[in-house]
Amino acid sequence: MEKCDILINGCRILKPDMTVSEEMSVAIHDSWIKKIGPAGEIKEIFQASETLDGKGKLLMPGLVDGHTHACQQLLRGRVSDEYPMVWTRFLVPFESNLRPDDSYISGQLACLEMIKNGTTSFADSGGVHMERVADAVLESGMRAAIAKSTMDMGNAITGAMKETAEEAIMHTRDLYQAYDGKGDGRISIWFAIRQVMTCSRDLISMVRDAAAELNTGIHAHLCEHKDEVSFCLQNYHLRPAQFLESMGVLGPNLLTAHNVMLSDEDIAIMARRDVKVIHCPRANLSNHGFPKTPQILQAGLNVGLGCDGAAPSNLDLFDEMKALRYSMIAYWGLPSFNPVVMTCPTLLKMAVWGGANAIGKGDILGAVEEGRKADVILLNIDQPHLTPTQNLINTIVEAANGHDVTDSIINGKIVMKNREVLTLDEEKIRREAQIHMEEIIKRAY
Ligand SMILES: [Zn+2]
Repeated sequence: MEKCDILINGCRILKPDMTVSEEMSVAIHDSWIKKIGPAGEIKEIFQASETLDGKGKLLMPGLVDGHTHACQQLLRGRVSDEYPMVWTRFLVPFESNLRPDDSYISGQLACLEMIKNGTTSFADSGGVHMERVADAVLESGMRAAIAKSTMDMGNAITGAMKETAEEAIMHTRDLYQAYDGKGDGRISIWFAIRQVMTCSRDLISMVRDAAAELNTGIHAHLCEHKDEVSFCLQNYHLRPAQFLESMGVLGPNLLTAHNVMLSDEDIAIMARRDVKVIHCPRANLSNHGFPKTPQILQAGLNVGLGCDGAAPSNLDLFDEMKALRYSMIAYWGLPSFNPVVMTCPTLLKMAVWGGANAIGKGDILGAVEEGRKADVILLNIDQPHLTPTQNLINTIVEAANGHDVTDSIINGKIVMKNREVLTLDEEKIRREAQIHMEEIIKRAY
């Protein structure tokens, strides 16, 4: 008998081609998916240190949140139904008043929520005191590409958010030195361009050069709203994507979040440069509009999904899949009677492989396949809203949610078993988060 760390027995498996096989087992060893095969066969080969019963469950890749803000967890419920400017009235006072321990507890709470919703990796575009978020991620067992919010312009920014271009670069370099590769490679440190309206040309060039030197990624908000496009046209006579192209920033290591206001030419340039596109459907729909997702996919761009932090909603990517599906059908599908403008398999692939590819791990994450990292989740499908079904993939996208996730394995380690997160103390974190939230409110508003 061969030894393995974990054996998942007798489950259904979501295959990379978005079809499902039945009665399978998976052996996990040393953080990798070692063997996948029919349940009876695998049982004869492997002796496992730990076995998970997969009966009535679907094994699928962990979801990857391609754009979030772990630091904004304690802003939950605050920004809905508010008049503009939410950025200057809420985001800036909140974020600039965060202390290191607030970022830590916020990071812990974000990881807890993500794990319980089936997310195994995320890209954080950055807030403040990101070293404390990195500590929380390490502890949680999750995987993350973490950036520190970087900006040197804009009169609204104050406190912990305000830096010169040199300071901003130095702080991310420090973070990189301290955390990149930590947690058996689970943490990557990226650079950030918060958005073109708050970053000078100098800062943008410095980010470009430092990311190239350290061979890491850049995370930016891009074409999120009209004001940003207007700002770029006024100041640079170029649209945001074209401005970044002129600065030499567009490339395969650039992850852009939102991407609502893209022109056809922007899409063509970004496709040529292999930029990684992330949509945040609920954030986009409630603030900025409908992205040209069918055209973006048609151009060959990678698309992933992000929750954009918990401030206006939650960290459940199953909800984002639904929001994108129905908004795309309503906006692009119905006017031309095209019912297949945004199909369920396309959306599911975005939530798993699209996000994984956006954080530079498309070759080792995002699919249940031998030789890939064991970042996988189990979904309880023996429930009245999921089975019986004539097409499980369609039902997962249209009817499943984060609460259906029972177990989560990240980098070959079980981080959640039967909905209990093993790496974090849920009760303690929620209790402390309440106290920190109340203190921030007193300081910030
Ligand atoms: Zn964002």
